[in-house]
Amino acid sequence: MALPLVYHQNYSQVLLPERHPFPMTKFALLRDVLLGDGVARAEQLHSPEPADDALLALAHTPDYVQRFTAGELDAAAVRRQGFPWSPALVTRSRTAVGGTRRTAELALEHGLACHLAGGTHHAHADFGSGYCLLNDLAVTAAWAVESGTARRVLIVDCDVHQGDGTARIFEHDDRVFTLSVHAASNFPARKAISDMDVALPRGTGDVDYLCALHQALTTVLAEQAFDLVLYDAGADVHADDRLGHFELSDTGMAQRDRLVISTCLQRDLPVACVIGGGYDRDVPRLARRHSILHREATACFKNYLSAA
Ligand SMILES: [Zn+2]
Repeated sequence: MALPLVYHQNYSQVLLPERHPFPMTKFALLRDVLLGDGVARAEQLHSPEPADDALLALAHTPDYVQRFTAGELDAAAVRRQGFPWSPALVTRSRTAVGGTRRTAELALEHGLACHLAGGTHHAHADFGSGYCLLNDLAVTAAWAVESGTARRVLIVDCDVHQGDGTARIFEHDDRVFTLSVHAASNFPARKAISDMDVALPRGTGDVDYLCALHQALTTVLAEQAFDLVLYDAGADVHADDRLGHFELSDTGMAQRDRLVISTCLQRDLPVACVIGGGYDRDVPRLARRHSILHREATACFKNYLSAA
């Protein structure tokens, strides 16, 4: 048994205007890197179903889902999302939510699983924001607790930006604990209140970052019990990221991923990983940066789970 991965070819099949800053091709390139470097084999890839209205309604208002799907949002709402509307964008967004849910199912079954997309944590219940249209983390956590699959879910959000949409969606829900480790100075300007926020200064590097994350994670896990962890491994913490304010190296990112995953697996906690944000004009280089997560997860899967 090898690490389960979740990917759909439609993730990169959205045409954006030339010079649009979002690196939409990175998802297909990430798959190519993982297969090309021998990190994964094609048999490990699971293809998800798009999330239907009932699933999305666990974290979004039906009105927002309906208007987003039909392309009926007003110009200000579309600007806030950051993408021009298209049917392909809707299909891609719904499939990525289905993909994170599928990743969680596989994690519950096998202990650990990784998505090749996901982490759209700025999407709120009734609006999209900052390249995030539907909140895959929130829908998946809500699905896990509503279906009785998990009593309590921990979301460990290590994207450089605060997981404001996720925090607001679960503001009054004790079944989902939101931990966000982010740059204090970065988007969104107006922060939400997570169950635990670790806001670090601009320029934070490997050592300070890993110490802060380790302390936060061990504190939460010592005090509370969970049945599932959703881990957002945003690559925008990297020193070369265009939108991040941190200075993590490749090694620091690898240590971060291994810290989160191994800390949870040592406690028999299943972990579903998503890639989160990452911005670089050199998209092949960015795809390779995102693949750090899958390399570390593969090593953890071998160490902790493959004998089971
Ligand atoms: Zn981000």
